[in-house]
Amino acid sequence: MIDVGRRDFLLSATAAALASGIEPGAWAQGRTAKPLGYAIVGLGTYGHDVIMPQFANCTHSRLAAVVSGDPAKAKAVAAAHGLPSSSIYSYANFDSIRDNPDADIVYVCLPNAMHADYTIRAARAGKHVMCEKPMAISVAECEAMIAACHAANRKLMIGYRCHFEAYNLEAMRLARSGVAGRTRYVRTEHGFVQRDPSKWRLKRALAGGGSLMDMGIYSLQAARYMIGEEPVAVTARESTDRRDPRFHEVEDMIEWTLEFPSGAIAGCQSMYSANQNHVLLMGDLGRIELEPATRYDGNRMWTGKDGREQERTPPPGPGKTQFAGQLDHLARCIVDGREPIVSGEEGLRDMRIIEAIYRSAREGRTIRLGTTA
Ligand code: NDP
Repeated sequence: MIDVGRRDFLLSATAAALASGIEPGAWAQGRTAKPLGYAIVGLGTYGHDVIMPQFANCTHSRLAAVVSGDPAKAKAVAAAHGLPSSSIYSYANFDSIRDNPDADIVYVCLPNAMHADYTIRAARAGKHVMCEKPMAISVAECEAMIAACHAANRKLMIGYRCHFEAYNLEAMRLARSGVAGRTRYVRTEHGFVQRDPSKWRLKRALAGGGSLMDMGIYSLQAARYMIGEEPVAVTARESTDRRDPRFHEVEDMIEWTLEFPSGAIAGCQSMYSANQNHVLLMGDLGRIELEPATRYDGNRMWTGKDGREQERTPPPGPGKTQFAGQLDHLARCIVDGREPIVSGEEGLRDMRIIEAIYRSAREGRTIRLGTTA
């Protein structure tokens, strides 16, 4: 279960003895320490275009290295960010990052099927890991990643940025506060139009699946964090036009129903053939709605009661942006010896449900979660 009580963004004064040469508990005690260095692995749309500019908004994190299969791009990016050539790695020499004390954290921004390998290698190189969603492409991979980070005594966090986004945090708080009464139903929908059949997202070997792996994970996460319970059963149905060249290998539309112990139901959906981004919670006293719900910016929220809707502006989130909040959270967890609020175990919980969703759609039956039946 996602424990909202763990979200103490104002850090306690935990003084933990840590590796990586940082004075234990220095931030928690209000003294300045050097921001932790991130190595970005995969200089694509997310790693390069979205994440790298965010270090300007961070307090406790900085860019320390880049890892890329494209030497010219890596050189240009490193130069643009003032990194020395000794901070550039290829996939072939990535393991030598162990000798770079400037890189405390490896941020894996690669195609999904590469997450497990680079997370495990990073942990073995003595680095903490931020891994993008989905954590990997199977439960077995997620378990191996957690084991590797545990064995190396390194932190593992998943890039679930919505846990640092002001609208989603306020929606969770409102749901827990009972503003909508007892939660009866949550509806979540995420999708975008995937136009180019050559993209890795449409190749099973690299993506592990289709819209569910990419966008559906936002629908799944939102259902879990809005309801605040773990689902006990899932029933899924896939609708894909396999004649469409984009969908020869992976699914387009998939919908699934989650049953929760309290009796709440979540109707979730994802697709690669329409744009949508929506979360709606219905309780016996009212509703909480986000649309768009999980975008990088421009999210909006309403609460409703007795047919009246009120638009809400949330208080600021924990960082200047959700991305900065996410990056700094892991850095602070490392310094203060705490577990990230979205740890590897959280990614594993989602992957168990994702496997059950695919199995339910394949076998045409309800899958009980937490059992092998
Ligand atoms: P891109 O295709 O834009 O970038 C992926 C990068 O990975 C490439 O640029 C390349 O970098 C590297 N790479 C290494 N091997 C391959 C390969 N065989 N095929 C393609 N790329 C390869 O993808 P995104 O940046 O959009 O996605 C990366 C990860 O980030 C995914 O797991 C995705 O789910 C996640 N993501 C998360 C988002 C969020 O909001 N949390 C948003 C978008 C994506 P190089 O040339 O430097 O080697």
